[in-house]
Amino acid sequence: MFKKHFSEEEKKYYNIIKNHRKNVKQAFELLQINFGELFANLTKKQFNHLKKQIDTHDLSKLKKEEFKAYCINFFCKEKTEIIQNNFDMACLHHHRTNPHHHQYWLLKRNDGELVALDIPQVNLLEMICDWWAFSIQEGDLCLINSWYETYKDKMILSKKTRETVEEILNKIKTKFKKIISF
Ligand SMILES: [Zn+2]
Repeated sequence: MFKKHFSEEEKKYYNIIKNHRKNVKQAFELLQINFGELFANLTKKQFNHLKKQIDTHDLSKLKKEEFKAYCINFFCKEKTEIIQNNFDMACLHHHRTNPHHHQYWLLKRNDGELVALDIPQVNLLEMICDWWAFSIQEGDLCLINSWYETYKDKMILSKKTRETVEEILNKIKTKFKKIISF
């Protein structure tokens, strides 16, 4: 962390990140327990890399390039242009440095064409854990499905990535349809 003294809001935001990271770890465990087949094709090295990614998930949110701008954006009552600009810059930093975000895999070709590359399985699984963490926090493991339905048309994903994402989300829906909390 980059500074010693936090404001009350910074403390709260720090705890939000901490809690999210805990839920991402729990999502990772739930994925392994319930859908071991998703990890079957990973080499030992890839699996260890994934574990490391989960352990360090979103730590860049604590960096000076992200923390303050995210925190201010989260708590502000009125979004000024400066707040918005700083938040956009922080988001850009977050998306550009964290391959668990689908935006990381978007290529803007020189001719202007936007291409979604296939997200490698390791990063895709971390992305699912990131999305699923919110369902865990809310105590409804299928929230991820309605969340995806709301945002899927706004996400630019390759055909292969979309198929894999929807396959995993269907597994979650089938398995946890009736379970409200655990
Ligand atoms: Zn993230």
